[in-house]
Amino acid sequence: MLNYFQKELTNLKKLNLYRELRVVKSSASPEIIYQRKKYLLFSSNNYLGLANHKKVISAQINASKKYAAGSGASRLVCGNIKLYQDLEYKLAKFKESESSLVFATGYMTNLGVISALVTEKDLILSDALNHASIVDACRLTKAKKIIYPHSDFNFVQNHLKKLRENFNNVFIITDGIFSMDGDIAPLPQLTKIAKHYKSFLIIDDAHATGIIGEQGKGSLSYYNLKPAENIIQIATLSKAIGNLGGFVCAKKEIINFLINKSRPLIYATALPPAILAGSLTALKIIQNNEGEKLRTRLKENYLLVYNSLKNLNFKLSKKPSHIIPVIIGDNKKTLKIAEYLFKEKIFAPAIRPPSVPEGQSRIRITVMATHSKKHLEKLIKVFKNIKNKP
Ligand SMILES: *Cc1c(COP(=O)(O)O)cnc(C)c1O
Repeated sequence: MLNYFQKELTNLKKLNLYRELRVVKSSASPEIIYQRKKYLLFSSNNYLGLANHKKVISAQINASKKYAAGSGASRLVCGNIKLYQDLEYKLAKFKESESSLVFATGYMTNLGVISALVTEKDLILSDALNHASIVDACRLTKAKKIIYPHSDFNFVQNHLKKLRENFNNVFIITDGIFSMDGDIAPLPQLTKIAKHYKSFLIIDDAHATGIIGEQGKGSLSYYNLKPAENIIQIATLSKAIGNLGGFVCAKKEIINFLINKSRPLIYATALPPAILAGSLTALKIIQNNEGEKLRTRLKENYLLVYNSLKNLNFKLSKKPSHIIPVIIGDNKKTLKIAEYLFKEKIFAPAIRPPSVPEGQSRIRITVMATHSKKHLEKLIKVFKNIKNKP
């Protein structure tokens, strides 16, 4: 009975695509312990260090003591404690939106929003490099789906010109900052096109929230754009906010519709009180002076890494961001480099298909505000050695 699975796994190993879990001691600090040795971490999404922030941790402990460890039921039954209302109010304000709704994870937010809003009479236009959770969400719908070449807004416009009248609703879906490449979606053009063709624009701002725009509001704010009624913003509490959960910000009608129709909201247990309290505290920090300082520090850090690797002639993204893909191409070569990094006590695993397109395997470096200059210099030195050894 297990033969089939064993054979598939052997096949994955042959293709250098086999994955395994590593047990680490704290996956959110710049220095982590793995098999009793110290490594420098360059693969965490804890960009601002808020997962380790003292105030966030005490807020979580206090909430557990005050309420309970778990929530006991789904939100529509009795799991919807007051902290949800507080957090959703703050998130909506943060994203300059009318209303917001929190889900158990960012992954479930995409499933929950897209599968509920989109019907068989609709059209989806989805960027080729969108996150896997968007891809899976689109698969759950019966809509016509068109995958457009990465950031190609002309393609989107041309298709809408031809096709718009054949469909009821149209949903253009894009990451704000792309998770594997670190580049930003062309939102000035996409918002214009969406408005002109009376379409919704869904922006998954998982990697931009807390990081870019005024107070870290995200990619719309980065471009000085305001969320209009056809714009649906999705984000996660698990990256810069340093916790767990996802959320959507949109007009009240959309949020009420989701409360009634979104299965991942209706049929899953509410988040524990600690998560909600921790996220509230982290959100407050993100919007105050301390958050501003952390963003400045993050930018200094990623500019140093990006510029140094660029000078070493590594193939990187066009523009610097906190996500720095070092494109190697070949799976085997990428694994070899990842192994070397690992030997040198750098924790930055290889990213291979299907997480990225075939032939674009890479080392994905993520920089944090909590990395010290010393941490960064060590990383750069190790990459210098890679360059000097063909
Ligand atoms: C990480 C990520 C998600 C999933 O969020 P989780 O909170 O980790 O489930 C969704 N979309 C994008 C673009 C992401 O990078």
